[in-house]
Formats: sequence, C-alpha cells, structure tokens
Amino acid sequence: MKKNAEVIIVGAGLAGLTAAKVLKAAGKSVLVLEASDAVGGRVRTDEVDGFLLDRGFQVFLTAYPEAQKHLDYKALDLCKFDPGALILSRDGITELGDPIRRPGSLVSTLFSGAATFADKMRMLRLKLMLSGKRIDEIFSEQEISTTEYLKNKGFSATIMNNFFRPFMTGIFLENHLSTSSRMFEFVFKMFSEGDACIPAKGMGMIPKQLASCLEPHEILFHQNVSAIAGGTVSTTEGVNYEADVVLVATDPLSSPLGDKNSTISYHPVSNMYFVAGQRPFKQPLIALNTLPRKLVNNIAVMDRIAPGYAPDGKSLISLSLIGDHSGADKAELQANVISELKFWYPDAVNWKHLKTYHIKYALPNDDHVVNQPDSKALQLNEQCFVCGDYLMNGSINAAMKSGRLAAEAIINTMS
Ligand SMILES: Cc1cc2nc3c(=O)[nH]c(=O)nc-3n(C[C@H](O)[C@H](O)[C@H](O)COP(=O)(O)OP(=O)(O)OC[C@H]3O[C@@H](n4cnc5c(N)ncnc54)[C@H](O)[C@@H]3O)c2cc1C
Repeated sequence: MKKNAEVIIVGAGLAGLTAAKVLKAAGKSVLVLEASDAVGGRVRTDEVDGFLLDRGFQVFLTAYPEAQKHLDYKALDLCKFDPGALILSRDGITELGDPIRRPGSLVSTLFSGAATFADKMRMLRLKLMLSGKRIDEIFSEQEISTTEYLKNKGFSATIMNNFFRPFMTGIFLENHLSTSSRMFEFVFKMFSEGDACIPAKGMGMIPKQLASCLEPHEILFHQNVSAIAGGTVSTTEGVNYEADVVLVATDPLSSPLGDKNSTISYHPVSNMYFVAGQRPFKQPLIALNTLPRKLVNNIAVMDRIAPGYAPDGKSLISLSLIGDHSGADKAELQANVISELKFWYPDAVNWKHLKTYHIKYALPNDDHVVNQPDSKALQLNEQCFVCGDYLMNGSINAAMKSGRLAAEAIINTMS
C-alpha cells in the first residue's frame, strides 16, 4: 500500500498539533487524522448568535514554558484577567487582589475579610518561595494532596474556604483538592509569574494557530480511527492509511489503543452561558462562590475580558459547575443556578440562557502528576508513539510538551 506520510498523527488536540508542528519543522511529512469536524480537542470555541463560546471555561497562562516555545502570543491578541478574585459569600462580595502585581487592590485586599492578615503574609511567602523554585524541582517534590499541603503551610480555614477551595476547584475541576501538591505549586507559580488570559477571538485560536503550519491535505476531519496495526491506521468507515510511524494523540477515553477495561479516572464539568443586558460586575476578575453545597463554582464575564466575545451592548456570562450535571433537568438546572446567583446579582433573573456544555472528560485525575513522561510511556513499540496531557498532568502546557517530546522521540528513531 502507498504510504500517505512518514508520520500519521491521530487526534488534532494541542498535543497532536504541537507534535505536527515539531515534526514538520524537522522536515518530516505528516498526516493528521481527526475524528471531529475541527481542530482543538478540548480547546474549542463555537460562535452562537454572535457570541464566542469556549467549550468549557478555561484560561491560558502566559508563563507556561512550553506554550512560549510554540505560540505567537502577539498574534493571539491575549486579553488579561486581573490577578485576584471576587469573593461571593453570605456577607456579600469582597475583592481579594494581588497587591504586588496590582497595587490598586492593596486597600481592598488588606481590608478583605476573605483572609486573615497572617494568611496574606503566608500567601506572600508562598509566592516568593515558588518564584525561587524551578519547575523540575516542583515536580520532584514528594506528592501530598493540595488540601494537606495548604494546611501544612499554616493557611487558616477562612482563606481555605474563601479563596483556595473555590479558586483551585475551578482549576482542578474537583472540590476535595485531592490534586497533587506538585500541580498546586506549578499552577500557583504560573499564575504568579504571568497573566491569565483568553485570546481576543476565543480559546480556539490557540489550536488554530498551531494548525496553521499544516497544508489542507495534511489534515483530514471526520476520521474516527478504530485500529492501528504496525504502520496501518484504520477508521470506523473502513479507510486505511499507511505511514512509517503512528502517533496516537487522542484522549485516553477514545483512544483506538485504549484498554477499555481499565478504569480511567477524570473530572467532568458543566459550563453554562447566559446573556445579560448589563455586566453583573465591572472588574476584570473571576468571581468565586464560597457557599457550601453550591451549584456554580466560578463566574466570568467574558466580554469584560475580551469584548469580541459578545456583540455590542450584550454581556456574556460563563458559569462553571463542577461535576457531572448532564443528567439534570435542563430547565430546573437553569432555574436553580439563577436562584443561587440572584443573592449577589438580583438582575440574574433577567439573564437569558444561551447554551450549556456538559464535558464528561475535561481533565484527567491529577492526584499524581509528572512534568516529563518516561520515554517508555511515549513509545509503545517500534512504530507506535503516544502523547496527550494525561501522560503528565491536565494542562495546556502538558499537552503541548507531551506532543513535542513524542515528536522528538520519533525524529530520533527515524534519523
Ligand atoms: C473545561 C476545561 C477546562 C480546562 N481548563 C484549563 C485551564 O484553565 N488551563 C489549562 O492549562 N488547561 C485547561 N484544561 C485542560 C486542557 O484543555 C487540556 O489539557 C488539553 O487541551 C488536552 O489536549 P490533548 O491534545 O492532550 O487532548 P484533547 O484535547 O482531548 O485532544 C484529543 C483529540 O483526539 C481526537 N480523537 C479522539 N479519539 C479519536 C479517534 N479515535 N480518532 C481520531 N481522533 C480522535 C479528539 O477529537 C481530539 O481532537 C481544561 C480542559 C477543559 C475541558
């Protein structure tokens, strides 16, 4: 059978696309086979009635070292969140800022009841400690849960409940904070050393930029790969493709190699979008719900960060609900969410529901994480390699790094 390319890449998420970029730069011919209708995998943006809807609220951290290698930040036209958060509690709304990076928030932060003065000092010490710690050092530390780690650092129940729990829950997509302390240190360092952003035209611009290295004949959509034997890749439609090497860059749940019997642990999330006539809050911050037994964990006013997310005069509100809500009655879920939020934002009763995404596999379980997968984990046999965030940790940085490392391993075996 005629060879289609030197390397076939299965999956056009960030890992597969980064691998494609690195392989092409090394002069290798590639063919990317993607099951869905577009690039991006878990990082996609839909346009609905003139609004830009990311499939799941997520932020891009400019400090990610791997992203700095492969992305043109200027072309992404990144729009920043301010450091800090709005804290929603039974007492109302307070602002917790980062007075070092945003001196204007000094007063509100010092007087915020969301944390004790001692906590604010501990936070400062943590930031300083992490700024002097290399990423490889972070990932060689012994792992404990994030909850245990923060307790060991002496943080009070007040700041745990008012800030760390809802903030890290929104990032880890699990509310026990069982996620590895390595991941906490890594993410906290990234937040401290760069900006949390979204591209002006949606998170989907990140994979689109990576994919711009591909010619149209180098990427095929609607190709659901079901089997791989040697260099032969077969789709569910019965089409076969041939290459010297195959790189599987799918999520583990839908991998054509997957051992369907193995228990894959992952974190689901639901992301609800509402349209409002006016913004519920003016600050370019994420709002965190600190109430126990809440539905909504965090709120972002997308057009406040990037005006292109909503047409003129409208505001786009993104809500993250941790866990699997796909079985809930749609109308009831919407009504419950609004009833929860109207305590702080009475105008929520006028918000119009636009769309809800239930994302079953959002993040892999990150209780144990690495920053450098074992070379054996990347190469399954002479002709088959794998990459994807799940080999390291659930992040854009890890997805891209795993793709780069797999591509480099392939280049080494081919030369
Ligand atoms: C809601 C949500 C919030 C997140 N928040 C953040 C955040 O704030 N910051 C951050 O850094 N990270 C965040 N992440 C994580 C980040 O998006 C992922 O780690 C990253 O996108 C994973 O990329 P990947 O290439 O490894 O996998 P995927 O994106 O899952 O890509 C796999 C690709 O393979 C394709 N595929 C699957 N099976 C087949 C098959 N059989 N044949 C052909 N193609 C197939 C899929 O369609 C997909 O395109 C978040 C993720 C989600 C979902």
